[in-house]
Amino acid sequence: MPFVHNLLLAEQNLHLMAKKRILILGAGLAGLSAAWHLQSQGIDCQIFEKESDVGGLCRSKNINGFTFDYDGHVLHFKHRYTLNLIRSLLKDNLASHQRKSWIYSHRRYTRYPFQANLYGLPSQIVKECLLSFLKASQKQAPEIKKRESFLAWINHTFGEGISRHFMVPYNRKFWTIPPEELTCEWLDGFIPVPSLNDLVDGTIQESKKQFGYNAHFWYPKRGGISSLARALAEPLDNIRTNCNIAEINLKKKEMRLASGEKERFDYLVSTIPLPRMSGIIGDLPQDIKHLFGFLRWNSIFNLNLGVKNKINPARHWVYFPEKELSFFRVGFAHNFSSNNVPRGQGSLYVEVSYPFGGSIDKNKLIRRIKEDLKEIGIIDREEHICCQDVNDIKYGYPIYDKNYRESRAKITEYLLMNDIIPCGRYGSWRYLSMEEAILDGKSAAQRIAEIKCA
Ligand SMILES: Cc1cc2nc3c(=O)[nH]c(=O)nc-3n(C[C@H](O)[C@H](O)[C@H](O)COP(=O)(O)OP(=O)(O)OC[C@H]3O[C@@H](n4cnc5c(N)ncnc54)[C@H](O)[C@@H]3O)c2cc1C
Repeated sequence: MPFVHNLLLAEQNLHLMAKKRILILGAGLAGLSAAWHLQSQGIDCQIFEKESDVGGLCRSKNINGFTFDYDGHVLHFKHRYTLNLIRSLLKDNLASHQRKSWIYSHRRYTRYPFQANLYGLPSQIVKECLLSFLKASQKQAPEIKKRESFLAWINHTFGEGISRHFMVPYNRKFWTIPPEELTCEWLDGFIPVPSLNDLVDGTIQESKKQFGYNAHFWYPKRGGISSLARALAEPLDNIRTNCNIAEINLKKKEMRLASGEKERFDYLVSTIPLPRMSGIIGDLPQDIKHLFGFLRWNSIFNLNLGVKNKINPARHWVYFPEKELSFFRVGFAHNFSSNNVPRGQGSLYVEVSYPFGGSIDKNKLIRRIKEDLKEIGIIDREEHICCQDVNDIKYGYPIYDKNYRESRAKITEYLLMNDIIPCGRYGSWRYLSMEEAILDGKSAAQRIAEIKCA
């Protein structure tokens, strides 16, 4: 009987919840997933998206027969649930690939990850990296403390050689701040740690061993990464695009769109970048408002290029640690799917980091990127470029520094107290992948479904 009773209560809750006005801010993967999971439990909601299309960062553009994503986006799965969900959404429009990623340093290519593949580097550098790795591995490995400095972790994990020749310059370039200012709270298995045996193998020969949870990736066969967002949005009939949320009034439980229109809410699921919320919520107490000032992030400038020939057929993407080159990564989208390009042509995406709040001279940067691509032989001549597309991604990666945890925790607590559920990579301000953004949308839906209705 208690089971039947619980079922009846749950049904009653869902019924009451169905009457609540639940609004979702943003139609990226997290917002779409929240709506998808709410709808599948019979709970109504309405999505408001400021752009004219759904997908957020998971969008693609079609230009002259090239499919360009908003910067390189490939799928990795840690959870069977998400793999099954995405398979059911994309059906046959999904292909799996074995990652072929490389590093370019000292004017040559080595396999990713650097810390397991020294083969081919100048012998002096190989010696320095190997000996210091050996020294580091002989010391008793300290337990990783999440709030420890990332630089300290790099040094005691890999030794000074790998630190100097890859880890520090790459991370400095990528995060735009020195690694000693970062904590280890974001690591979560992102950086593979090889054994000494693996490193020796990858030093005496070109090792084919794959490292990390993302040794395989998945990508749509047709339509670029936006196929995923479109498939998630397809069954949802409650998405309003071109709706920019300009203000939220917590006391009145009302939000105002840039058009002036007002909407009442009981619960909000917000995937709007957290730092933006300090300008959107009108009645923030001062002690909460000042916490937003501690949030930091990097921005990503992405240049997509369509080229006349299929370049670099054996590589998916390459990391560039050296500061002399403008970009930290270049990928080859025709190697994800031949449908991303007109027959026989190629497509590359170039990624450059810059500090948040910083400004860039886009034309100057584009010229420099093209010079650098020619310098290292990725493109032969500028005439080979047949089209280009630029994306300036203001919110790239939330930065985990010493202020991150406390500021984020207190802001989150305040929002939750006011019936706003922060969600997704930028809404909840975490280093989340597409898979994790989808799961975060699911958790937000679950949270709403579980709220006890008085
Ligand atoms: C450069 C880069 C490369 C990446 N590569 C990968 C990868 O290869 N694999 C992977 O798994 N993940 C990758 N990611 C992460 C992935 O993009 C994110 O985890 C995921 O797309 C986040 O989805 P989201 O819905 O949380 O945020 P978003 O996609 O940013 O969606 C938020 C939505 O809110 C809308 N919005 C914002 N403000 C307002 C407002 N005021 N009113 C209304 N709507 C608003 C936005 O327009 C947007 O549509 C990458 C991220 C970056 C930056």
